[in-house]
Formats: sequence, structure tokens, C-alpha cells
Amino acid sequence: MDVMAYVAPSAGARLERSSITRREPGPRDVAIDIAYAGICHSDIHQAREEWGGSLFPMVPGHEITGIVTAVGADVTRFAPGDRVGVGVFVDSCRTCEACARGLESYCLNGPSPTYNGYEQDGVTPTYGGYSTHIVTDEHFVVAVPEALGLDVAAPLLCAGITTYSPLRHWNVGPGSRVAVMGLGGLGHMGLKFAAAMGAEVTLISHSPSKETDARRLGAHDFLLSSDRDAMRGSRNRFDFILNTVSANLELHRYLALLRLDGTLCNVGLPTEPLSVPTFALTGARRSIAGSNVGGCAEVQEMLDFAAEHGLGSDIEIIDAADVNEAWERVVISDVRYRFVIDAGTI
Ligand code: NAP
Ligand code: ZN
Ligand code: ZN
Repeated sequence: MDVMAYVAPSAGARLERSSITRREPGPRDVAIDIAYAGICHSDIHQAREEWGGSLFPMVPGHEITGIVTAVGADVTRFAPGDRVGVGVFVDSCRTCEACARGLESYCLNGPSPTYNGYEQDGVTPTYGGYSTHIVTDEHFVVAVPEALGLDVAAPLLCAGITTYSPLRHWNVGPGSRVAVMGLGGLGHMGLKFAAAMGAEVTLISHSPSKETDARRLGAHDFLLSSDRDAMRGSRNRFDFILNTVSANLELHRYLALLRLDGTLCNVGLPTEPLSVPTFALTGARRSIAGSNVGGCAEVQEMLDFAAEHGLGSDIEIIDAADVNEAWERVVISDVRYRFVIDAGTI
């Protein structure tokens, strides 16, 4: 079926309203009327081809919530009328070691991204959430708990799970001293989750104007990264640092803040390779790591945790026609803290 979408025709071009074709629902598919689509910085990186290898035309968007309109004959978990979400991946091989462990996002044969990639057949392009409808295999559809509005839940499908998953993997909890770098879409959810898990959380930002918000969102302390004295005073302080920053930074300045055996986990995906002096690691047996979104089961666990703790995203809802201007504001770190497109305006 033909549906409307916001489409990037080529690298760096403005998004334009246009029609795309979605497949008819197959036996295991769920057809979804999209209500909201969050704007992730990854949408911008990919539409501007900042990571290389982008496919055009591109329909960005992997933070999708909506209502089920139809299901295939073999679908067991969803029915028309259900409130659902779709995140960063829409399929994977289902047989490799990672898939067998429920880590579809690390599929060894390459998961199918929600956009800017191919279905598992390797030839059919995928189109994302800046659109009125989507058709997705039920395995990659999650239930949005009643306690969460579809608007504040949308950013959880990427920003939420990308921060929740490493916090869980590195066992953040009561007694952990955690720092989150960057108060944007990912950072504000990382901050909320780490605080809800019982950690003592410090937000490290390059924006002095964000201190009040950081504390309101649960930060016990705020560090301005340009304040060299404050940074020096926090050396050897944190067990775990979550780097959500979308730009390249002098990472050794942050590694110095880790305690003995601490880990700095990167989820931000800047364009240039990281450069780290080895001494910044060896001096305190520090680790540097990276993490992707979690698997399908963990996305559901994260949504249930968010509902239980009343943790939606802080959002600014926009009309689809304003998407290009919203992207410019994301690039200059001027988003509080996630733009969400009202798909009804597409
Ligand atoms: P965002 O909303 O733009 O937030 C990024 C934050 O980084 C900004 O709010 C800002 O925080 C800080 N920042 C930006 N430019 C900076 C600079 N030049 N110097 C210092 N700090 C700067 O972006 P997002 O949607 O949260 O995404 C963040 C990154 O994660 C992106 O690179 C995105 O592609 C990546 N990502 C990765 C995954 C994954 O699976 N690993 C998933 C989703 C997104 P302050 O103003 O507080 O400093
Ligand atoms: Zn994303
Ligand atoms: Zn696999």
C-alpha cells in the first residue's frame, strides 16, 4: 500500500513529504498506524551520510509508537487496537548465537535496521518511522504499557533502550557512582534510568544552561566539562561513565574520572575514530567499551521498567513540516530533550 512519509532524497538534502510503498501484512506481520516518531541524532548522522554508506531515498525514524490496525494469521501477541512500538531493528536471522541469546541487535549475520538498510532478503530497502504507517514482523514489535503515553514512550524505543541496556549490563545499581556525558535525547534517559536504578548520578555537560534541568531530572551533581578545576576535582570518582555525546571529545579527560577498574561505555557515535592515550587506561586498570540498543526482550523489559517508575521522555511535539528546523536545533544541542513528530501531521 502507498503511504505518506518524510523522505531524504539524497545526502544532506532537506526532507520532503512524499509517498512510499509498504508491503501488505504477511502471516507474521503487524500493521501499525503510527502515532508518534521520535527524532534521534542517528537520523541526522545517516541522512547526512556522516557514517558513510547511506541508502537513498531514506525515510528516517526508529522511535515509533502507534496503534495496531491489522495482524497476520500467525500473529499471537498482538491484536487490532493494541498500543505498540517499533525500535531500531525490524528483523534479524533468528538463528545465530546472538539471536539465540535474545540479542537480535547484535545479530552476527546483520540485523535489518528500521531504515537505511535491507530486509533479511538483502535487497528490499527498509523505511522508517517518519511516516503514517509501518508493517513489521511481530517479533520486533513491543507492547507500550498503559501507564506511558504514546508520545513520551516513542523516544524510549531508541534513546531509552540504548541507555538502559548498558546500565543493566554493567550492573549499575545502589552504591554505583555513575556519570552520564551529554544531556540530549539519550543522556536525559540515561540519567533518569541510572537514578531510578539507585545509582548516584553526575551529569557532565558542555552546556552551562542545562544544570537546572539535569538536577530536576535526577542528577545528584553536575559537571561543566569546560571547568578544568571541577573536572580535576572529580578524578578517580566514577565506577561507570556512559558517553552519549554525538561529537568527538578529548576522551582522556573523561577517562581520568574513572576509579580503579571503572568502565567508560560509548553509545554516542561521532564520525571520527576515538583517540585515547593508553596511559589513561593502564594507570587505573580502566576499560573503554561500546554498546548498542538491546534485544527485543530487553526493549520490552525497559518499557515495563519505565512504566513502573513513571519515566517517559521529556519531549517537544512538532508538526512533520517542521522536521528540518528541528534537526538544525538537535545539531546545536538545543533540544529539551527529544523532538517527537506527531504523525497525524504527515
Ligand atoms: P542529542 O540529543 O543531539 O544529544 C547529544 C548531546 O551531546 C547534546 O545534547 C550535547 O549535550 C552533547 N554534545 C553535542 N555536541 C557536542 C560537542 N560538540 N561537544 C560536547 N558535547 C556535545 O543526540 P542523541 O539522539 O542523544 O544521540 C547521541 C549520540 O548517540 C549520537 O551520536 C547518536 O547517533 C548515537 N546513538 C547511538 C545509539 C547506539 O545504539 N549506540 C543509539 C542511538 C543514538 P550537552 O549540551 O549536555 O553537552
Ligand atoms: Zn536512535
Ligand atoms: Zn542472527
